[in-house]
Amino acid sequence: MHYRRLEKLGVELSVLGFGCMRFPVKDGKIEREEAAAMLDYAYKNGVNYYDTAWGYHNEESQYFVGEAMRRYPRDSFYLATKMPVWLCKESADLDKYFAEQLSRLQTDYFDFYLLHALDKERFEHSVKLGALEWLTRMKAEGKIKYAGFSFHDETANFAPILDAYDWDFVQIQHNYIDRVHIGSDELYRQLVEQDIPALVMEPVRGGHLASLPEDVEAILKAVNPQRSMAAWALQWVATQENIMVTLSGMSTLEQVKENVATFSQTPFTLSPADLEAVDKVTDKLLSYKTIPCTDCRYCMPCPYGVNIPKMFEIYNRFEMFKNTAIAYQNYSGPLMDMNTRADKCVACGHCLPQCPQQINIPERMVQVHEVLGALKVD
Ligand code: SF4
Ligand code: SF4
Repeated sequence: MHYRRLEKLGVELSVLGFGCMRFPVKDGKIEREEAAAMLDYAYKNGVNYYDTAWGYHNEESQYFVGEAMRRYPRDSFYLATKMPVWLCKESADLDKYFAEQLSRLQTDYFDFYLLHALDKERFEHSVKLGALEWLTRMKAEGKIKYAGFSFHDETANFAPILDAYDWDFVQIQHNYIDRVHIGSDELYRQLVEQDIPALVMEPVRGGHLASLPEDVEAILKAVNPQRSMAAWALQWVATQENIMVTLSGMSTLEQVKENVATFSQTPFTLSPADLEAVDKVTDKLLSYKTIPCTDCRYCMPCPYGVNIPKMFEIYNRFEMFKNTAIAYQNYSGPLMDMNTRADKCVACGHCLPQCPQQINIPERMVQVHEVLGALKVD
């Protein structure tokens, strides 16, 4: 495993970090034996950064990670979790949720602690709660070693948050599509300029970059026939020097093994010729009219039953692959629960503030149904 040293903080982090939000599940619950085997493999092969959050896996992730990681000396890995600021109604709630997180994760401190999924409104709410002073107090008390935030908003709303506190690190969504699509290149540039270490989430864009249309995949295969599409995406992120950890939300032991192998080989970064090929792929993918949903599921559940991320996935796949038969089957076939389709959206707006990608979900539901609902097969 390759590591990057955060000179400012004096720690060395594995380039691959374990995102604990996509463990295998059965009947809605984490498959604990399989998931523990995945954590074991990662730990034994040098992954030393584990990232969870209050809401992951319907709040089961923190309990599970606490139970699984207590088998290892606490000072042999870095544990990261996040404050769900939107749940805090008053300042005292910061202490309440924090204490509960320590208990769930069976620890008495966190190495990396983030204000979760900040956008303009959530940041203003955090400031009103006194969350910045609270972070300073937690650091002084030794309960948090390093303070940061994760960001999900328009680029223009990044700098005011960055300038408001002496952040130890910042977590951004960054991958070879989103550098252009949501402007994450600009976020990265600002972090480099201010010498703030960057951690990256969604390097494979919720798995979408792991499976590309054939003609797009061919561009990368022509340069390196062996490298998987997921490895291309992960290595693209890690090629940028200010990125300390590339967080991957892994769902199978095979994925863990593949990602560990990707970041254990030398070199683990991309060559100039590789980067050129990725630029071509970016241009090609951005020429498709897809909806930038990352399947984070923050918008769920919809009170009217619409399966929002699934609608976007079917639509995006159709836009990219143009396979009418499959899209029809997925949207109108016997396996589709008609009560979860896009046409059940009543535009109540409940989901709108939850979407970190700022997708106008009700408007897009109309578009999705217009396109997919009109498909016909013989
Ligand atoms: S706007 Fe549509 S998709 Fe969003 S919560 Fe309301 S009914 Fe569901
Ligand atoms: S629509 Fe937005 S909130 Fe919902 S899954 Fe997609 S990116 Fe996440």
